[in-house]
Amino acid sequence: MEKYIENNLKQVLSNIEKACLAAGRDSHEVTLCAVSKTKPWQAVVEAKEAGQKVFGENYVQEIVEKFEKLGNTDIDWHMIGHLQTNKVKYIIDKVVLIHSVDSLHLAEKISKEATKKGLTMDILLEVNAAKEESKWGFSADELMDQVAQIVSLPGIKIKGLMTSAPYTTDPESNRVHFKLMKQLFDQIKEAFPEQTDMSVLSMGMSGDYSVAIEEGSTMVRVGTAIFGERDYH
Ligand SMILES: *Cc1c(COP(=O)(O)O)cnc(C)c1O
Repeated sequence: MEKYIENNLKQVLSNIEKACLAAGRDSHEVTLCAVSKTKPWQAVVEAKEAGQKVFGENYVQEIVEKFEKLGNTDIDWHMIGHLQTNKVKYIIDKVVLIHSVDSLHLAEKISKEATKKGLTMDILLEVNAAKEESKWGFSADELMDQVAQIVSLPGIKIKGLMTSAPYTTDPESNRVHFKLMKQLFDQIKEAFPEQTDMSVLSMGMSGDYSVAIEEGSTMVRVGTAIFGERDYH
């Protein structure tokens, strides 16, 4: 298993480059967020030593533990999982981006906690692009109205959108959802040029990140392809 993570990282970065090339994009436009959830902190260290800087975590408890162990020197922690309002206070000063803002209520809570700490929290709005019952996120239809309210909150900045497309073995089947996300992204950017800072379109995971990049993703969240399968037991 020596250099397992380092080799996987190289492979993923090379695939990102290929996808960018195929899409006529500059590979600097796409950031890799390495999803280290359920993996030990040593795995984060291994990836970090191989040059990886951005790490995504889903669980508040896990971010807090890894943060206490590793700090944030040369690591940007991103919260990518569903966030309960009563847990915002534990991560507000540890993460640099929250991908998973899925309600006005949560945005208000983040705004409140950030203001308390005297900081501005960068957030992405999560969209349930495929309208899956099991998924969190705004519907495409309600998004504009919600943005109009969220932009007026102090202490937060909307940096973009995030989606988790359906799990599939056929990445092509998610292309339609990625296309919708890019449309929504451009719409918000045009409608709120001053109040938002639309620069991050977070979409694409281990199974479909190349297709997501072809459709305009600027941040892919890749776990399994870097760290291996997760064991939840
Ligand atoms: C787990 C997770 C990922 C990574 O998924 P992989 O298929 O392992 O690459 C990305 N985004 C979110 C929100 C996740 O929960």
